[in-house]
Amino acid sequence: MSYTSQVLEQAIRKNSHEPEFHQAMTEVVPTLQPFIDEHPEYEKTGVLERLVEPERQILFRVPWIDDNGEVQVNRGFRVQFNSAIGPYKGGLRFHPSVCLSIIKFLGFEQIFKNSLTGLSIGGGKGGADFDPKGKSDREVMAFCQSFVTELYRHVGADMDVPAGDIGVGAREIGYIYGQYRRLTGLSDGTFSGKGIAYGGSLVRTEATGYGLIYLVEKMLESLKTSFEGKTTVISGSGNVAIYTAEKALQLGAKVVTMSDSDGYVYHPEGINLDTVKMIKEKQRGRIREYLEHHPAAQYYENGLVWSVPCHIALPCATQNELTAEGAGQLIKNGCLIVAEGSNMPTELEAIQLLQANNVLFAPGKASNAGGVAVSALEMAQNRSRWYWSFDDVDKKLQRIMHAIYASISETAARYGVKGNLVAGANIAGFKRVAEAMLQQGAV
Ligand code: NDP
Repeated sequence: MSYTSQVLEQAIRKNSHEPEFHQAMTEVVPTLQPFIDEHPEYEKTGVLERLVEPERQILFRVPWIDDNGEVQVNRGFRVQFNSAIGPYKGGLRFHPSVCLSIIKFLGFEQIFKNSLTGLSIGGGKGGADFDPKGKSDREVMAFCQSFVTELYRHVGADMDVPAGDIGVGAREIGYIYGQYRRLTGLSDGTFSGKGIAYGGSLVRTEATGYGLIYLVEKMLESLKTSFEGKTTVISGSGNVAIYTAEKALQLGAKVVTMSDSDGYVYHPEGINLDTVKMIKEKQRGRIREYLEHHPAAQYYENGLVWSVPCHIALPCATQNELTAEGAGQLIKNGCLIVAEGSNMPTELEAIQLLQANNVLFAPGKASNAGGVAVSALEMAQNRSRWYWSFDDVDKKLQRIMHAIYASISETAARYGVKGNLVAGANIAGFKRVAEAMLQQGAV
């Protein structure tokens, strides 16, 4: 049995009740074998065995009081996965589905993603099984304050810098950072995605979505075409989905769908993004309300967007939202490119199907790295207390995403799997972390 198969089998056995973590490791570990074959020193020093084991996992109680005066209890998580190349960095997710398996899959992905950005940030992830949906602002604040009252002792500007993710946007980061400052007395920038008024970076809100489109731009270039006139389907209607749509529209694409966990809107004339922003960012409403403003659009309860004919498909909601069935529909309709905005949205079988049918596929650890890249730029600005213009940050983001595309496509070609951007991203991300781990000894 190969080294990578052994490590994978052992890690799955050791973490037997964590299906999402298994999936993330299964997508990565076997693709590293060609690189390991060339570098036996990594096997000798057990780099992979160390990589699949988080450096630290913190689980904690989060008690808070709701608007009826009743005590509620949630569970908080922070998994500090790997700090070989820099302080842990990765978002916080607030969603009822959050459990250790989900946080570990996200943290594991984050190691490779952060490495691909070329910046000095290690991998971590956290969150809570708290649902901000339907809660008052006061309840969200009470929860965030209680959450960080435990978390603050485990994070810090040179140690661990969390950001947002599903259910954690500017409002939540504001409450969290406010309480962090109160507890520590420090304005050191720990936590990214902060408001511009208190140390946030311009472009952080747009970063993941814009970054995704900058990478897809390069994929389209490799097919000798561009966004101009391309029908694009997007799932989700949160932070990533909205700014993915915004940049795609700027580059001449026609975005025809957006969704939330209740269903999706299909607007053949093209989605009106101002309406989506008003519903989602201002009113915190549901995507079905889009039809009140655009009666010509259609709404599908419980449906998925992948049945809508398109050139480009961009999953931007959550994990495992694109199954083999969805991939089959995209292939049948002649889709050219699938690029992940969300983390692990595409099931393994669906990825294999897309690749076998020559649909160019980009994994999230490369294509959605723009968010964490700008978070690292936010850290740099906090350090120097010198803030850059929108254009400055946007140009840096664009350069980083284009460099990621070059790195993953060249790495794929170098290891004999030309066009396989999954293997390219895994190997390119692993290489830097493995080198750092080797040089620092058995830690
Ligand atoms: P948001 O909370 O802003 O939006 C999430 C969107 O996905 C909403 O439309 C939500 O619908 C939908 N969604 C969430 N869970 C489910 C579910 N179980 N089934 C169907 N739809 C669901 O999150 P983000 O936009 O920040 O994150 C989206 C994805 O992108 C996540 O996978 C995240 O890990 C990833 N990502 C985010 C980054 C960032 O910078 N924010 C960076 C890199 C990756 P509803 O409102 O109904 O729940």
